[in-house]
Amino acid sequence: MSKHFDYLSIGAGSGGIASANRAAIRGAKAAVIEAKAVGGTCVNVGCVPKKVMWYGAHIAEAVKYSEAYGFKLQQNGFDWGTLVKNREAYIERIHGGYKRGFAGNGVEYIEGFAKFVGPHEVEVNGERITADHITIAVGGRPTLPPVPGAEYGIDSDGFFALTEQPKKAVVVGAGYIAVEIAGVLHALGTDTHLLVRQDRPLRSFDRDIIDTLMGIIERHGPTLHPFSEVKKVDKGSDGLLTITTMNDEEITNVDCLIWAIGREPATDAIGLENAGVETDEQGFIRTDKYQNTNVPGIYAVGDITGEAQLTPVAIKAGRLLSERLFNKDMPDAHMDYSLIPTIVFSHPPIGTIGLTEVEAIAEYGEDQVKAYSSGFAAMYNAITPYRELSNFKLVCVGEEEKVVGLHGIGEGMDEILQGFAVAMKMGATKADFDATVALHPTSAEEFVTLR
Ligand code: NDP
Repeated sequence: MSKHFDYLSIGAGSGGIASANRAAIRGAKAAVIEAKAVGGTCVNVGCVPKKVMWYGAHIAEAVKYSEAYGFKLQQNGFDWGTLVKNREAYIERIHGGYKRGFAGNGVEYIEGFAKFVGPHEVEVNGERITADHITIAVGGRPTLPPVPGAEYGIDSDGFFALTEQPKKAVVVGAGYIAVEIAGVLHALGTDTHLLVRQDRPLRSFDRDIIDTLMGIIERHGPTLHPFSEVKKVDKGSDGLLTITTMNDEEITNVDCLIWAIGREPATDAIGLENAGVETDEQGFIRTDKYQNTNVPGIYAVGDITGEAQLTPVAIKAGRLLSERLFNKDMPDAHMDYSLIPTIVFSHPPIGTIGLTEVEAIAEYGEDQVKAYSSGFAAMYNAITPYRELSNFKLVCVGEEEKVVGLHGIGEGMDEILQGFAVAMKMGATKADFDATVALHPTSAEEFVTLR
């Protein structure tokens, strides 16, 4: 006995859910298979719990600032367990919402681990399922380095499983996850050390923005250890860790080591060879612009493709794929991977879209590029002892000064970026920005008043 569907998504993360729902809305008989928790990385061990923790850190900062605003607060500590409990209850509610969404749209939700047994056939829980169209949306997982003692550490999944607050944490890595986790732990009161292999974290970001971040980190923490690659990790009889770097620096009495050195595709066990789906040497399933793999009728969306590993990208790609397959009015629907905005939830947050100044010069030539920037004190902390500069920047090219890059670090940047991303997607120039009346007093107004 085998079941047959028009559309099957393997993986109920952001991409798989979005595409299966859209397929069903367009009339397809659709199903989604998930081995772990519905919602995938984003909902369970990514964006959602991270943002909750970040809000917790934001409140810790507000408590710090409160004295300058006249509050006489008496703090009776911070309970990590309460934050985690409420966060997980929220995630449970999201799970419920997804399942109700499937039921409402007529998507069959199947719990189990799917393995291809043929190009259009998978096996799950001993049952065979066939589908005309199958999308692989199995996402990725964190990697650990080949360092002696690496197993004493945890990864970002482990971070979200922590039921107690670490006293002293070492976070290793230089990407989004390392910066975000280190920032949260530090703000919530853990003695936090961020180890990066090179001179700085987030090396692909605009240098000026990361210079500002580095200045803030230097003054307020966490403790940044540049040029610090881990050589080994030792565990003492007291359970505490000693982390030794290649420069023979030792960080002792560490009760939590977190690896955040990148993520790898989770394709190894799903029987891709039985379907004939090819991967690149890292295991990512590369697709064309229509999310097609090398096998007709098999597609891939989300982190598994190795393209812009971001939830909204997976959602958009998944929905557009289903529109193309099941909506006769959208035969050419496909994701546009240009000008994707992203936020790093650092303290304060960083927002970025388009080219950095260095990238713009490399692409257009130095004489074609003009950058405008503004360093200013956000009013929110300007009256506190924690006054810090925000830094906003526009990168423009050509005589018409088309805005090809917009970058910022500062209070509110996480909410500011979206609207400017619309303007850039529409091809806005510096003159368009300048023609817009500023909102005062805000940080966002800096972007339309740059000189
Ligand atoms: P990233 O790939 O972004 O960064 C990992 C970095 O760690 C590398 O670039 C490298 O930087 C450094 N690194 C690699 N190997 C080692 C090592 N052995 N020792 C020390 N450092 C090492 O990975 P993340 O895990 O941070 O994030 C994965 C993806 O998830 C991101 O690319 C992003 O797309 C997504 N994400 C998005 C978020 C958001 O939108 N806010 C939040 C979290 C994740 P270097 O070469 O400089 O040393």
